[in-house]
Amino acid sequence: MAERAPRADRLPDIVLAILRQRAEPLTGVQLTELLRAEGQAAPLSAVFRAIRRLVDRGLARKIWIARAYVAVSAAAIIALHCRRCGALCEVEGTGVHEALDRLAAVRGFRAATAIVEVPGLCWRCRGR
Ligand SMILES: [Zn+2]
Repeated sequence: MAERAPRADRLPDIVLAILRQRAEPLTGVQLTELLRAEGQAAPLSAVFRAIRRLVDRGLARKIWIARAYVAVSAAAIIALHCRRCGALCEVEGTGVHEALDRLAAVRGFRAATAIVEVPGLCWRCRGR
């Protein structure tokens, strides 16, 4: 299949669609390879610009412990990340986020955002 470069203004939407299809966080390099496999080759720098635009718009975020990106499903989530297979499970965490806001407020700190990431082993990997 002949590769064609997606227009720069369409790349964030294409990257977001890929992130939404996947159960695990993806790095910029992995996104670049997936784009190429779909015949939509784009340079890594363009992929990172697309990711930055998605993060700025609140549509994607970095999972720091995975050093990769996911589509944002909700504002107050807790990301459970399997250190063995890379699977990501997001659970609703409003109570945890409210508790973090209270802890921060006691110290006169107002958090712009709170990202709660919990490394561990998923049920599949625990069974191995
Ligand atoms: Zn696992």
